[in-house]
Amino acid sequence: MPRLLKLATPLYELHLHEIPRVATKTAQKIAAGVAATIGEPNALLVTVDDLLNNLPMRYEDRSNLTKIRQLQHNEFATIEVEVRIAGTYAVKGGKLRIFEFSAVDESGQIRAYWWNQAYLQQAFPRGRKVLLYGQWRRGKRGFFEVENPDYEFLSDDEDNAEPIHTGRRVPVYRKLGELRSKPLRSIMHYVLERMDWAEFTETLPQEMLSRTQLISRIDAFKQIHFPADDAPLALYNACKSPAHQRLIFEEFFWLALAMGIRRQGREASPKGTLIEINDRVREAVRSILPFKPTNAQKRVLKEIVDDMASTKPMNRLLQGDVGSGKTIIAIQAAVVAIESGYQSALMVPTEILAEQHAKNTKRILAQSPYRVELLTGSLTAAKKRDIHNAIEAGEVDFVIGTHALIQEGVKFSKLGFVVIDEQHRFGVLQRAELMKRGYNPDTLVMTATPIPRSLTMTLYGDLDLSIIDEMPPGRKPIITKVRGEDARNKIYHFLDGIIRQGQQVYIVYPLVEESEKLDLLNATQMAEHLRTAVFPQFRIGLVHGKMKQEEKDAVMDEFRRGASQILVATTVIEVGVDVPNASVMLVEHAERFGLSQLHQLRGRVGRGDAQAYCILLAGDKRTSEARERLTIMEQTNDGFKVSEKDLEIRGPGEVMGTRQSGIPTFRVGNIVRDRELVEIAKREADYMLTERRNSRDTAKLVELIKKQTKYGLASIG
Ligand code: ADP
Ligand code: MG
Repeated sequence: MPRLLKLATPLYELHLHEIPRVATKTAQKIAAGVAATIGEPNALLVTVDDLLNNLPMRYEDRSNLTKIRQLQHNEFATIEVEVRIAGTYAVKGGKLRIFEFSAVDESGQIRAYWWNQAYLQQAFPRGRKVLLYGQWRRGKRGFFEVENPDYEFLSDDEDNAEPIHTGRRVPVYRKLGELRSKPLRSIMHYVLERMDWAEFTETLPQEMLSRTQLISRIDAFKQIHFPADDAPLALYNACKSPAHQRLIFEEFFWLALAMGIRRQGREASPKGTLIEINDRVREAVRSILPFKPTNAQKRVLKEIVDDMASTKPMNRLLQGDVGSGKTIIAIQAAVVAIESGYQSALMVPTEILAEQHAKNTKRILAQSPYRVELLTGSLTAAKKRDIHNAIEAGEVDFVIGTHALIQEGVKFSKLGFVVIDEQHRFGVLQRAELMKRGYNPDTLVMTATPIPRSLTMTLYGDLDLSIIDEMPPGRKPIITKVRGEDARNKIYHFLDGIIRQGQQVYIVYPLVEESEKLDLLNATQMAEHLRTAVFPQFRIGLVHGKMKQEEKDAVMDEFRRGASQILVATTVIEVGVDVPNASVMLVEHAERFGLSQLHQLRGRVGRGDAQAYCILLAGDKRTSEARERLTIMEQTNDGFKVSEKDLEIRGPGEVMGTRQSGIPTFRVGNIVRDRELVEIAKREADYMLTERRNSRDTAKLVELIKKQTKYGLASIG
């Protein structure tokens, strides 16, 4: 009798030689595969627990045995047969070898074959009984044939009589590293049979299970890999089975609980700043306004200022579609902090944006006594040192910059307010890094990627939410059109007309990493081509990420002043860039951009009074997914709709750029598919942390979650 497996048993220790046809070296392969899937750098640390959480990607019903006589052309079916004649022969002049056998049941004969797997010959001697599962085709000689079927022997000499791969409902796994579904299935079956089920103690309070009608943890794991013969397989395939719901809920629940605990912890420690709101401050904030704020802007500013005036540190997310006017709110809030004698910091993801914000802010605050400075990585060392010193001495009131703000050497004298713009480009850790430099400062994060609620909860569940749901007056919806290469001349003609009316144009090239050089070349060559051959009468600027800061500044400045009419750019202009007189954007290779990115890009136009256009020029080789993306862009200007669709098409990890955005990766849950469970998990977590705060159940949950290192709560009291 083999020993019982524990959840913490490393996969390396599995005795896989006990499983027929699964080699011991597979233990290493599978550990490596799981490690890669869950992002664990050390495969030695991958355990049985991780393996059990690697859920099937789908399920197949192979339970009904079919007789050969009943097989249908192109249908998947399982049959039980006895091998008759087996053999291997070469085809294509010896380059390929086919192994095949014929086999029979009492109703007929079939042929099964494999490419280049001659070693199978020993496995199928005459008389061997075998279950075969695959897609059956009527072959030339009238026999049914199957290529590369799943098989399972039914001989008496092997001890486990229960078939795993055929003649039942089977899980189908995603390939893990080099390991295909079938050996994985064998391993999973082996592990489940030897599992020490006493290990599966319930983690969630009983009353929560009854309230949410979820099954126990142990039942969930018992069912989810090999569903019972009478289980509704459609539910399993939709990830809606009771087993799925239970495991998915739990995953969301821990995250929601962690967010709640973190938030309570933060609220318990009062902030080190004291912000005073009086008439002088109000006047200072009002006096800098270059335009009449929208009602949404006023409401949101009030929410922010109320937070700042309270003793709890602010942790607020400001969401507003591209162009909704978030910048001025950030500046006004910064003024509030500065008026109380604190420093403010604004961190943005690109140098172009930092530069623009700094210019803009200096202009808006020109009449004020505040000192505003720009801090980016490409400043000279001497200049950086000067600014570092001035920040440390408290001489700088408002510093605007990139990641350079969180580099070693940046010490604030009294940082009281932190804004992070275009938060989706930063990680949670970077946010924390900047906050650490102040006394638990008020923090505002802003994003133009309107995030669906379920995602907001998982990404920013520890933040309060403010939403700008109104555009500045006079904005007309941007007209978006998808065009092909055949329309290029017409488009140029159109651009010519637009520029003659005094407006400006962006032409954007994709910059994807693997072909970065090529794309730069494209943008550069295209700018050259446009200058010489297409629009010799206009001035054309070129900006891309590989240029020096001063060069970028010069080009952007020229465009902002209207001295150049066309700006050819890579996606460095994707976020934040604000030139209201630019009313048309032409996106080259639009099929290569993601939806959210296209929406961000499009947001660069439509900021002035003129009717704005976005032309998406797409290559002819569009995938159906690309076609869907482009159609959505044509149909809506609404950022929320765009990002909902984007999530649907690409999934959360892709959309948010998992690693950099700090979005937690879920092992079983999918925040798009399972958004209802996200809500329920959040509700339950809030309930346990408020209403049932002092219960033993909550104490136990808190104890459990502190042991799960990934939530980083161990140190929170
Ligand atoms: P985003 O929310 O995308 O960061 P910005 O803050 O860059 O948007 O604002 C977009 C443009 O709209 C800017 O040119 C800004 O000056 C202008 N703007 C913002 N609010 C108003 C308003 N209330 N009235 C008129 N123009 C505004
Ligand atoms: Mg902005």
